[in-house]
Amino acid sequence: MEELPWGRLAGVRPSKQLHRLLDEGLSHAEAYQRMQQTDGISSEKFELLWQVANTARPVVAESSQPDLFSVYVGIPFCPSRCLYCSFPAYSLKELGMWRDQFLDTLLYEIATTGQLARKLQMHPDSFYLGGGTPTSLSPAELDRILSALRLAFPEPVREFTVEAGRPDTLTHEQLAILKKHGVTRVSVNPQSMHNETLQKIGRCHSVAEVYRAVNQVQTAAFPVLNMDLILGLPGENEAMVSKSVQDVLSLSPTNITLHMFSRKRASLFSEEREHFPLPDKTLAATMYRTATGLLSPKYHPYYLYRQREILGDLENIGYCLPGTECIYNIVMIEERQHILGLGCGATSKFIYQDLTLRNLTSPKDVRTYLEKAAELCRRREFELTQTQKALSHSVRSCVFPVF
Ligand code: SF4
Repeated sequence: MEELPWGRLAGVRPSKQLHRLLDEGLSHAEAYQRMQQTDGISSEKFELLWQVANTARPVVAESSQPDLFSVYVGIPFCPSRCLYCSFPAYSLKELGMWRDQFLDTLLYEIATTGQLARKLQMHPDSFYLGGGTPTSLSPAELDRILSALRLAFPEPVREFTVEAGRPDTLTHEQLAILKKHGVTRVSVNPQSMHNETLQKIGRCHSVAEVYRAVNQVQTAAFPVLNMDLILGLPGENEAMVSKSVQDVLSLSPTNITLHMFSRKRASLFSEEREHFPLPDKTLAATMYRTATGLLSPKYHPYYLYRQREILGDLENIGYCLPGTECIYNIVMIEERQHILGLGCGATSKFIYQDLTLRNLTSPKDVRTYLEKAAELCRRREFELTQTQKALSHSVRSCVFPVF
């Protein structure tokens, strides 16, 4: 029978298991033995997990206070839809008529959630504006959202990420607005550094635009620049992957996130898969080894997650230069800090002291979101209040039991 590198670890967050073992005080050898016996993990994947968990551990500890939360804001618009996308990402041409109403509703959600945080005496740790592509909105619209966030949560946060995933959407004017509101991390996502692939997957931008956008972000001196790549895109071979990684490395981003191509049911790819042959498992593994080999040892892995139909049964990994780990990515994967998800398709996570959690996901569809926003605010208030009530019945201490 074929040996699976992740063994029986079918879930998307294998590092959560290891953090629990570290909480118990297990050593490297003891943790490996436990995960080998319980989950059948390979030694190669355990070593990767060990590195990830130990890199993330200080961030997990600092961010696990029960009165801290991070805010995720989902902007459901993009210039076009990528072949593999399953996110809420409506073309502005198609659904642009809803943008004013969407903004008004989002601002209401932000203000209501700010009031809730003040009432419960809770504090924001990080902000993440994703989607969709937030920078597909106009500078004035972006300014409204960021001003509303700052007004609702006036305390300083440790990190503020904005996804400018599509490089063709980014302008000097937008970057000035991000600067004005204290954004610390900008993500420009080429996915591939080959024009023919970008066309094939419906990205509607060129490699030249990636270079232009990165140059603008670096000139504006944001502390952290992230760049995403996808390995195993239709029609790509190992040499193409290697070139994309090397081209991205030549731009010296602070963070690089490697995704393995993943077949999502809600994507256009699912409907047209016969036109887009994918690499087989062996080639996917070769691409993965080539890409990760080029990033090590300068960049180190700090978070990872798996997806259901991920190519080669592999994983997505976030790499960073030491000291530039993305707080939001870590807390979102390790699930030890509340996440308040606002906007379309956003998930809120309410964490209890025993590390159980409850989720609340807003509708991906803009019109349904507009109808449900008030109810979402009420449910968010109920769920977050419950976590704080539960705390008052126990000693109010760090969620993290042992270090
Ligand atoms: S840029 Fe991201 S959110 Fe927008 S369509 Fe592409 S994958 Fe989806």
